[in-house]
Amino acid sequence: MPLDRAATLRDDEAWIARTLADPASRVLAASADGVLVDDTGLARRTLAEAGGEAIAPILLGLDAPSRGAGGSVALFAVDLDGLDPPAAAAITQGGRTISLREAGAALAAPEAGLAAYLTALLNWHRRHGHCANCGAPTRIAEAGYARRCDACAAMHFPRTDPVVIMVVEHAGSVLLGRHAGWPANQYSALAGFVSPGESLEEAVVREVREESGIDCRDPAFVTSQPWPFPTSLMLGFEARSHGGEPQVIDGELEDVRWFTLAEVRSAIGGNGDGRLRVPPSISIARFLLERWARDAAMRAS
Ligand SMILES: [Zn+2]
Repeated sequence: MPLDRAATLRDDEAWIARTLADPASRVLAASADGVLVDDTGLARRTLAEAGGEAIAPILLGLDAPSRGAGGSVALFAVDLDGLDPPAAAAITQGGRTISLREAGAALAAPEAGLAAYLTALLNWHRRHGHCANCGAPTRIAEAGYARRCDACAAMHFPRTDPVVIMVVEHAGSVLLGRHAGWPANQYSALAGFVSPGESLEEAVVREVREESGIDCRDPAFVTSQPWPFPTSLMLGFEARSHGGEPQVIDGELEDVRWFTLAEVRSAIGGNGDGRLRVPPSISIARFLLERWARDAAMRAS
């Protein structure tokens, strides 16, 4: 996501005021249901179209210079759910709202990254209108990177909830599970929230044991992905196991089992017999699974 988050400018109220008055500045919009897009990608509205000074200034950052006329362009965010219906209708005119999952598949990677950032930040604001310390209403501070409670002076900052997601291997097979309600034969990597006071590696070992009864070891970090449903950060791991028969333990999963490399490769290639469907290509689960299959195939050859 090539946006400059402009951390050093957030406290500069004069700069924020000038930027809000700059006709080149643009606004991105989203609701709890999705992000506003037009034929070019995320819809970039002028501040006048977004309601002018009436909007609460949530600064996203500075858009790449190539998009503006010479210099970089400040991008702000507006929550469609916080507007009255006429104002929301004015912003959304000529565009349409699509879910973040759709956006991830339909938009180019930099725009999809921006959509994830926009969604994560607005999700947090939407859910933190009241102080967690004293219950009084909070207001936007630091141009949208904080909320302040005037009653007790507490500052609240955007939260990100860490989730570990892992492919566990044993003897050329990989451990995958499925939730009830997923499409038939859909399986994915096991995943779960990190607990307070827990390292990421401990979370990997605990989650695998809780969801499958399998003991795993040597968790190794691979990559991460923002997952604003509503505010998660997925942390992808690989781990190994001595094997064993996985079993549904805590009822969170409907089924959990080993899949062979051949089964996974067929499913990824789309030429399987339908017994296994792998996660969609925008997900880190798919990335981890494809990476594992590639490495496992190399080791086997
Ligand atoms: Zn408070």
